[in-house]
Amino acid sequence: MSDAVLEVRGLTKRYGAVHALKGIDLTVRQGSIYGFIGPNGAGKTTTIRIVAGLVRATEGDVLLHGVDLRKDRLAAAKGLRTLVEVPAFYGNLSGQANLEIFARLAGADRADVARLLERVRLTHAKDRAVRGYSLGMRQRLGIAQALLGRPDLVVLDEPMNGLDPAGMHEMRELIREENREHGVTFFLSSHLLDDIQRLCDRIGVLHKGALVAEGRIEDLLSSAVTGFRLRCADPAAARAVLVASLPEAKARLDGDGTVHVAGDASILPRLHRALLDAGQPVVEMYPVRASLEAYFLDLTEGVMG
Ligand code: ATP
Repeated sequence: MSDAVLEVRGLTKRYGAVHALKGIDLTVRQGSIYGFIGPNGAGKTTTIRIVAGLVRATEGDVLLHGVDLRKDRLAAAKGLRTLVEVPAFYGNLSGQANLEIFARLAGADRADVARLLERVRLTHAKDRAVRGYSLGMRQRLGIAQALLGRPDLVVLDEPMNGLDPAGMHEMRELIREENREHGVTFFLSSHLLDDIQRLCDRIGVLHKGALVAEGRIEDLLSSAVTGFRLRCADPAAARAVLVASLPEAKARLDGDGTVHVAGDASILPRLHRALLDAGQPVVEMYPVRASLEAYFLDLTEGVMG
């Protein structure tokens, strides 16, 4: 049996002349924290709104636990919780009263309400009317609401919006804890690279309505080797050898006493041979990778914001 919780196949969305999604495919597996990343206007919210059932796809399928969302929404969306943009609450009711209403709908108990209020640090404000909550407080209450009753899959659109750095940190901790300790799978969008890198095990990079990369962050970055750093007994001599025999590697001396060469793994056999022949064997070698940011900037043509 497949461990896919969410599968998106050939998802296309047109808003009149705007081609917001151009046939995207992605799979979110049980137990993962999947980051959906892309610059403004890439189509992240549109995808999430379709998964949440708020917008109809022009073409393509969304399957939750293998059940087609369009064919049987009730069965497919069992165990799915979504939080899209700023959550709507009853403004004149307290935070706790709001959660209690949603808890009844989600089949969760009062202990879960108290636990989650504590977890999102709203216990002190639980009796205050939500209309007086700040944006960050509403966002935290929204996350608590999404986690009521331990859903299988939680889909969050820009969950760090409106949170201060301490709030973001707590939110990451909460997501990690729910994932590790309670097996909740997360699918979350963000345009903040840092969030994604710290939190997610898999990512999909969306750009102009198309998925331009998908996979584990380490795997994506391992394809982003830009060069190597070498340690040799005499770095200046090693550099001179490489400048003469491998000019395309643009060997240069770095301040830490290593020799930096540009290129991918295909240069390594010739590099080792040249240095060995010159009596300057490589003592240590490290790959140099593009940073996640540089990698994404490259993929999205420098428009990540
Ligand atoms: P952001 O990070 O800015 O929220 P996003 O990746 O979530 O961006 P979407 O909001 O999904 O992107 O927008 C994708 C494209 O679809 C954009 O060109 C947007 O202008 C367009 N779009 C979204 N909703 C509508 C709508 N209701 N009517 C017309 N065009 C829309």
